[in-house]
Amino acid sequence: MTMDVTFLGTGSAYPSPHRGASALVLRTEGECWLFDCGEGTQTQLMKSQLRAGRITKVFISHLHGDHLFGLPGLLCTVSLNSNPDPQQRLGRVDIYGPRGLRHFLRVTLGLTGSQLLFPYAVHELEPTSDQSPEEGQLSPEVTADGPLHPQEQPGRTISLDVSSECYLLFEDKRFVVQAFRLFHRIPSFGFCVQEHDRTGRLKTELLKELGLKPGPLYGRLKAGEAVTLESGRLVLPAEVLEDATPGRKVCILGDCSSVLGEGPLRLCHRADILVHEATLANEHREKAVEHGHSTPEMAAAVAQACRARRLVLHHFSQRYKPCGAQKEGGKDDVSELKRQAEDALQDSGVEVVLAEDFLTLNVPIRCDQSLPVR
Ligand SMILES: [Zn+2]
Ligand SMILES: [Zn+2]
Repeated sequence: MTMDVTFLGTGSAYPSPHRGASALVLRTEGECWLFDCGEGTQTQLMKSQLRAGRITKVFISHLHGDHLFGLPGLLCTVSLNSNPDPQQRLGRVDIYGPRGLRHFLRVTLGLTGSQLLFPYAVHELEPTSDQSPEEGQLSPEVTADGPLHPQEQPGRTISLDVSSECYLLFEDKRFVVQAFRLFHRIPSFGFCVQEHDRTGRLKTELLKELGLKPGPLYGRLKAGEAVTLESGRLVLPAEVLEDATPGRKVCILGDCSSVLGEGPLRLCHRADILVHEATLANEHREKAVEHGHSTPEMAAAVAQACRARRLVLHHFSQRYKPCGAQKEGGKDDVSELKRQAEDALQDSGVEVVLAEDFLTLNVPIRCDQSLPVR
C-alpha cells in the first residue's frame, strides 16, 4: 500500500506568491487526509496531483487563521464539484481539531448561507490550560454549543487521556490516530498516524506438507490462532507465517515552541516522518519563542528525542523564499534552516528535509525491519 505526504503550503502567517499557508495531505490508497487548511489551500490543491473530492478527514492543529481560513471555502468548493445525485453523494467528512472549531464552521457556513451536498462532523479536542498563555484560551461562551448546521452531524468531544498524555481520535483496521498537546500562543496539537503492523504471509508450501488445505484454518492461523490437525498435531502461527511488516508512522506537529509531556515523545518514537515547524532561524530564537514558534535547532531536539528517521521542516516565515527563488548564501536563505537542523543532528542518523510547496514524500514500507511473529 502506498503512502505519501504532499505539502500544499509551507509558509507561516499568510499565503504569498512564494509559499502557500499551512496545509499538507497524507494519502493512502486514494484516500486523502488533510492536515491544516490555510487560506488558498483549495487553489494549491487544484495545482497539485491531488483531488479535493478525495478528502475524507481533516485535522486542524490550532485555530490560527494561517491554518484554518481555507476550510469553509474548501468544503463549499468540494460540495459544488460533487455529484448532486443522492446515490453518488460523498460520504461524511470527519473534522478533528481544538474546541472552538465546531463554532467556527457553524458561524462561517451559517452566515454565508452555505449548504453542503455531504454531511460533516467536528470532533473537538479539549485543550488543557497549560497549552498556552492565559490570553490564548477561549472563553466558554465563545464555544457555547448552539444548533447544528443543517449538514452537521454530532461529533465527539475528546479529552486528554492522562496516563498516555494523548488523545485517541480513532482506530480502524489500518490505522490508529492520536493527538497530543503542544505549547503555542493558543492551544495547538500534533497528530500521530500509526499504521498497524501487517501480518506476514502464510508459508503455503509448508502448510501443504502439513496436510492443511486452503480454507477457514488458513484464516485462523493468519489471525494468530493455533490450530490442531486431525492427527492431533498443534500448528502454531509462528511456524507457518512469514515475519510481520512493521506499520509506518507519520507525525505532524502544529505550531509550537515545545511539546508537552513525555507521552508524545514515546508516541512519536521512531517516526518515519516527523513534520515540525521551523518558523525562524536559530539566531531569532528569542523572537520565535516569544511568538510560540520554533527554530531548526528546537525542531531537531524534538526529532532527536523521539529518534525520528526523517525530520521535515516547514512553516517558514515568509522572509525565507523557496530554494531557487533566492540567492544561495544570501540573507534569509531557507537552506540555512536545513543546515542549522543538520548541525544539531550530527551523527544522530536523522535525515533533514526542507519542505517546499508541492513536495511529495513517499513513506516506504520498512522491509529492513521485519517483526517476529507474535
Ligand atoms: Zn502558523
Ligand atoms: Zn499559530
